[in-house]
Formats: sequence, structure tokens, C-alpha cells
Amino acid sequence: MLKDTIRTIPDYPKPGIQFRDITTLLADGAAFTQAVAELTSPWTDARISTVAAIEARGFIVGAAVAHALGSGFVPIRKRGKLPHTTVSVSYALEYGTDTIEMHRDAVRTGERVLLIDDLIATGGTALAAVSLLRSVGAEVIGAGFVIDLPDLGGSAALRNAGIHAHSLVEFPGH
Ligand code: AMP
Repeated sequence: MLKDTIRTIPDYPKPGIQFRDITTLLADGAAFTQAVAELTSPWTDARISTVAAIEARGFIVGAAVAHALGSGFVPIRKRGKLPHTTVSVSYALEYGTDTIEMHRDAVRTGERVLLIDDLIATGGTALAAVSLLRSVGAEVIGAGFVIDLPDLGGSAALRNAGIHAHSLVEFPGH
């Protein structure tokens, strides 16, 4: 099972967090192939022109999904990493804020975009990415995650924002 290929590291990066480590899934060829196929299958007829993915683990699966769909790939990065003119959005973390950025010209108005990340927890990161994409006129068709932590409410928050979130594996708690 896909779930068995994900390693859990207790108390990383801080006490109380169960870190869901996908490097063990990625290192397993059959599991990686299955994950990409399952992330891709809901969207094969959705005319996705661009997959946007969130630094850094999202890039690995997002690029593979973009390749499988035959669509383009757009990186959403932490502040200060992209060389050209960017749009940015800040969002609240447990302590403080974080900022993500995207090239302003990466997505055109009306483009059909699929958002990909490795994991959705509170949904803060994914919702920030959605607002970034919508700010340049993109139509966010859906979002895909390898892992959902449903008790933290992120996939429900995405649904409330009108976005269907599709994930492959769920873990209870956080
Ligand atoms: P959130 O914004 O709360 O939905 O958090 C999602 C982001 O934080 C994703 O980019 C994940 O890579 C990372 N993340 C949050 N919680 C975990 C966890 N328990 N294990 C691994 N990554 C996590």
C-alpha cells in the first residue's frame, strides 16, 4: 500500500509533530509511479494547461504530474528565490508569517491550473497559493496532495474556497 511507503518521524522538526516523510515513497519506483498516476487520473480530461506546485517537496511530484498531463509547470517559491518580477502573498503560521512568490508572467488570465503539494495540513500554504494564482487571473481547477491530515481542516477549507482537493493517503491527527 502507498501509505506503507511513507515514513513517519515523531517529534520532527519540533516536539509533538509527526513528520510524514515522502522520501521513502519517492525512492520506491512502484510507489512513486502509483502516486503520480493517482494524482494525475482525476484531471486527464480537465484541460489543465499548468501545474503549479509549492516549494520544495511539491516540486518533485508536481513536475511529474505536469509531465504526465502534458501541461506546463510553474514553481511557487519561498520569498527571494525567483529572479524575475513576482507577485507575492503572506500567510499566518503558528508563529509569525511566511511569504510565497510566483513570477507575475508565469500564468495568464483564464489559464486552467492544477495546484500540487506533498501534504495538506491546516491549508494555510495551499490557500495562499490559490490566492496568488487567482491574483493573476488563473482558474484554479483543483488541488492534489499525496497526504491529507483531515483533522487539521485544510482540505475542508479548500472546499469552502470552491476548490476540490484530491489526496491519496490520510493520517489522523497531526
Ligand atoms: P499547511 O500550510 O498547514 O497545510 O502545511 C502544509 C505544508 O507544510 C506542506 O508544504 C507540507 O510539506 C508541510 N507540512 C505540514 N505538516 C507536515 C507534516 N506533519 N509532515 C510533513 N510535512 C508537513
